[in-house]
Amino acid sequence: QQDQPGQTEQMRPTPDHGEDSYEGHGRLDGRRALITGGDSGIGRAVAIAFAREGADVAIVHMPEEQKDADETLRLVREAGRTGLGLAGDVRDEEFATECVLEARRALGDLDILVLNAGYQHDVPGFAHLDTEAMRRVFDTNLAGMLFSARAAFPNLQPGSSIIVTASIQSFEPSSGLIDYAMTKAAQVAFVRALAEEAGPRGVRVNAVAPGPIWTPLIPGTGWDEDKIRNFGADTPLGRAGQPAELAGAYVYLASGEASYVSGAVLPVTGGKPL
Ligand code: NAD
Repeated sequence: QQDQPGQTEQMRPTPDHGEDSYEGHGRLDGRRALITGGDSGIGRAVAIAFAREGADVAIVHMPEEQKDADETLRLVREAGRTGLGLAGDVRDEEFATECVLEARRALGDLDILVLNAGYQHDVPGFAHLDTEAMRRVFDTNLAGMLFSARAAFPNLQPGSSIIVTASIQSFEPSSGLIDYAMTKAAQVAFVRALAEEAGPRGVRVNAVAPGPIWTPLIPGTGWDEDKIRNFGADTPLGRAGQPAELAGAYVYLASGEASYVSGAVLPVTGGKPL
């Protein structure tokens, strides 16, 4: 397991929280899932957990993440399930729509949709908000999510589950992530609104709100060394989480155990209140 910058001995997560730590119990046997951003970080951990719980999994990822996607698919197949990779950009409406068709062709009708692809960047003061980066945040986290959801929604069977990766930033916005936090708050509005329309069809819509989780998104944000070093240290658990520590929340929301849970936000924040 890789050490994270600035971790003290006390803060270091136990190796049990690594990629291999999730053990399946057949809770998603025969289900078919599409996960956007399923190649790395949280999405990868969810893809592996779903496969170990018995689901076939399609992952959508940026073309430049092919290596990560191949490794995720290898782990899905190692669990004995079908894994399908779909390389492209969810900001492209046509691609996002085609992904759903392709996944249905390869796996059959989908019953789990995880809207997880996301992007964030450092805003070093509001006056310096970069227009291009801001558009990428809005287009990935909102338009991309809507394109994928809209394409899948009409064919989701009763008992299906949509799960959005929101954030603690949905409720506790920081100025240094101002545009990102706006999209994460909007995702919660999306979940609650869609849950209303989906409910009568027996489809549930929920969000997971992660706190600080060590993924490739974090070093890519553009924060200074100090901020990276202290990432997660202000949580009651005193450390950032590992992606595998989130996977159970997604499995729960995807499974029949959550059959009466819809329009909800499940915090996985190391004890930080939303
Ligand atoms: P990550 O960078 O490891 O994963 C993001 C994934 O999204 C990548 O796999 C990438 O291929 C995919 N992606 C990004 N833009 C895309 C696009 N336009 N088209 C297709 N795929 C695209 O980071 P992560 O931390 O695992 O992030 C996953 C989700 O979790 C994001 O929505 C993020 O906002 C959310 N989140 C992360 C944290 C954290 O601390 N890491 C906390 C709260 C919420």
